Amino acid sequence: MVNLNDKVAVITGSGRGIGKSIAINLMNCGAKVVLSDINQDTLQASVKELEALKGQVMGVACNVTVSEDIDKLVKEVTDKWQRIDILVNNAGITRDNLMIRMDEAQWQAVIDTNLTSAFKMTKAIAKVMSKFKYGRIINIASTTGVHGNFGQANYAAAKAGLIGLTKTTALEFASRNITCNAVAPGFIDTDMTKALSADIIAKVLEKIPMKKMGTPDDIANAVRFFASQEAQYITGTVLEVNGGLYT
Ligand code: NAP
Repeated sequence: MVNLNDKVAVITGSGRGIGKSIAINLMNCGAKVVLSDINQDTLQASVKELEALKGQVMGVACNVTVSEDIDKLVKEVTDKWQRIDILVNNAGITRDNLMIRMDEAQWQAVIDTNLTSAFKMTKAIAKVMSKFKYGRIINIASTTGVHGNFGQANYAAAKAGLIGLTKTTALEFASRNITCNAVAPGFIDTDMTKALSADIIAKVLEKIPMKKMGTPDDIANAVRFFASQEAQYITGTVLEVNGGLYT
């Protein structure tokens, strides 16, 4: 059993979906969890849900594209719990379109939310981790960032960039005992994929060797491993969790 007693974990975009599953998973290992999200309604509902499970939880509204929100989050968390041990850069959006039809707003929104946000969060929180000479940073990338995908030039570029950021963060912070790894999910059953048409879902399922979508828990279990003491010598890696898709 992974023991995260007294560790403080910040998970972005954790009001719902994969981020929320990660928060519950880490909380069940004893971590104090910070739920944060742009959406106040889902954030408050999830905070209540986790409190009912008797976990130590706090909710902080944070739009990861806004630097002031990030500074406020770091201050609120360190005021309350003094330290941050685990950061999961999970918040992400899609704005799919074939490149020929993709406008600059669609491109920029995805780069800002899925990539630039992780640079800002990592910079702010690695500073706190450095003081304690301990940290685990886990970036939620995507198989699309490794292999590309039709209609997702913006998303593929952002997630590939996130993998580059992961490897560089690993190098620059290794001497401070801070690891950084990426989990690259394949096709996971959340609201993000529910937005796809039945036709597209059927086509993707056909390509997945395991013939099923993954669950948010499949991703959370991989994150828990990277967050654990057992993964202390693993840094700069990308773990694909995708039922064999594209391998
Ligand atoms: P989701 O169900 O759409 O949840 C994403 C969460 O992030 C939502 O709560 C959303 O808030 C929040 N968010 C969006 N923009 C934000 C911002 N600027 N600041 C803070 N929070 C923000 O997505 P998911 O499927 O759980 O995906 C989680 C991560 O996994 C993403 O990085 C995604 O790219 C990655 N991923 C997912 C899949 C998949 O198949 N689902 C596959 C590969 C990778 P709202 O409620 O306002 O939207």
